[in-house]
Amino acid sequence: MLDFALTPSSSRLPDDERAAVLAAPGFGKHFTDHMALATWTDGRGWHDAQVRPYGPLQLDPSSAVLHYAQEIFEGLKAYRHDDGSVWAFRPDQNAARFQRSARRLALPELPAEDFVEAVRALVATDVDWVPAPGSGEASLYLRPFMFASEAFLGVRPASEVTFCVIASPAGPYFAGGVKPVSIWLSQEYSRAAPGGTGAAKCGGNYAASLAAQVEASEHGCDQVCFLDAIEHRWVEELGGMNLYFVLDDGSVVTPELTGTILEGVTRDSIITLLDDMGHKVVERRIDVDEWREGAASGAIREVFACGTAAVVTPVGRLVWPDGEAVVAGGGTGEVTAAVRSALLDVQYGRVPDTHGWLHRLA
Ligand SMILES: *Cc1c(COP(=O)(O)O)cnc(C)c1O
Repeated sequence: MLDFALTPSSSRLPDDERAAVLAAPGFGKHFTDHMALATWTDGRGWHDAQVRPYGPLQLDPSSAVLHYAQEIFEGLKAYRHDDGSVWAFRPDQNAARFQRSARRLALPELPAEDFVEAVRALVATDVDWVPAPGSGEASLYLRPFMFASEAFLGVRPASEVTFCVIASPAGPYFAGGVKPVSIWLSQEYSRAAPGGTGAAKCGGNYAASLAAQVEASEHGCDQVCFLDAIEHRWVEELGGMNLYFVLDDGSVVTPELTGTILEGVTRDSIITLLDDMGHKVVERRIDVDEWREGAASGAIREVFACGTAAVVTPVGRLVWPDGEAVVAGGGTGEVTAAVRSALLDVQYGRVPDTHGWLHRLA
């Protein structure tokens, strides 16, 4: 197992300045005093694991990632419980997905125990940056990533790769309380095609979704919903969140994993939580017309999106070029609210962790 050797920062942010940041962290704007790093080279494997002061990386302009986007990432959070302890939620799942993403992008797999150890070593070093439990839904967002750092313009898997973890305090996603989002139905763009990289968490998927996101904003929407790339008919997911539909018979449907949908850890956890709550959960294909008609007829009672950053987000409206459909009166449905609390209660240690999902970091 890698041992992340610590080089402590000599310029940690003073306590009062850190407290000011934690009072209003926003998202992804402020970073902790340290970062974890490791290097992989062909033949030697992983080495030079370290936790060192946060700061710019020096990259050769010919680094392969800057040209061919050979890069993957993860997103998870550290939660502080009432007793001061700090926990991650199912980090083994993020580690396993990171390995699947690595395989798809022809990057070296990082052993799961090294992934979790990198996260632990960084959080233990910067533990003062994990927001206090009293502060609602605040957490320390963790961003592991891996990229082709070899200086070479030839097109082939890089023989030198960098793994890094950075951490950023995050306030509640909805500063003014949970608010339903509006969704633009992308007709022109696809996020992922069969055989492509849709199931991998790679930066390129996000780059490819931005034009659709701009289109959504131009139509007054918060997020984009992507349909399948072949029939332009089956609901897949948003740019960075999975989708759920609550039907009028109490059952809940989520698009089945087809290889073009990112397998969210939140999505998977919600299947279990809904089952605990006595709902029947069905993974199947969902026609976008079922959404449009179901919203109008009441056959679909609630729609919500889910992911680590925003947890569970109610979807109020689906908008397309010549119409729109409003679900649940545009508000937050009962099942949506219940599953959101159930998940947060586990993450913040407010209920027993019956599924063994929590992993202590500090
Ligand atoms: C990360 C991500 C999700 C959500 O995954 P979680 O593990 O629940 O955070 C959903 N869709 C896409 C495209 C993603 O990149």
